[in-house]
Amino acid sequence: MKYCPKCGTQMDDNLSFCPSCGAPTAAPVAPAAVVPATDHTAEYDPKDISDNKVVAMIPYLSGYIGIIIAAIIAKDSPYVAFHVRQALKLNVVSTLIMLVSAILCWTFIVPIAGMICLAIISVLEIIAFFQVCGGKAKEPAIISNLKFLK
Ligand SMILES: [Zn+2]
Repeated sequence: MKYCPKCGTQMDDNLSFCPSCGAPTAAPVAPAAVVPATDHTAEYDPKDISDNKVVAMIPYLSGYIGIIIAAIIAKDSPYVAFHVRQALKLNVVSTLIMLVSAILCWTFIVPIAGMICLAIISVLEIIAFFQVCGGKAKEPAIISNLKFLK
């Protein structure tokens, strides 16, 4: 229930005019759905998503080869392209971590930290994979802060 701003009559929430004095009432403010900036699902065509979901899963499953395959199969699908970019980002970060770990393997601490980071990235890939299953287009956590390949 809300009250008329002019005469104070109690009235139904969905009325836009007061039943007593006819004054217009402010539209009930619907709480805006909070969509995180990393969730791009609404930017993609639902048909594109449902048609290409399976292809969008490939880049998360098979590394660079999967990325290339998915990019070729669905070059016309913005939804797949989004996931190709995310998967590529995860793979580039993994590759860099492996390189640094290999170069600094004698430091002992760097390869261990690198292994932990790679484990985290694997978890991010699994999460991303299940988001594709749910038809979502979300940037994986952590790497969404990396500003390349948006
Ligand atoms: Zn009124």
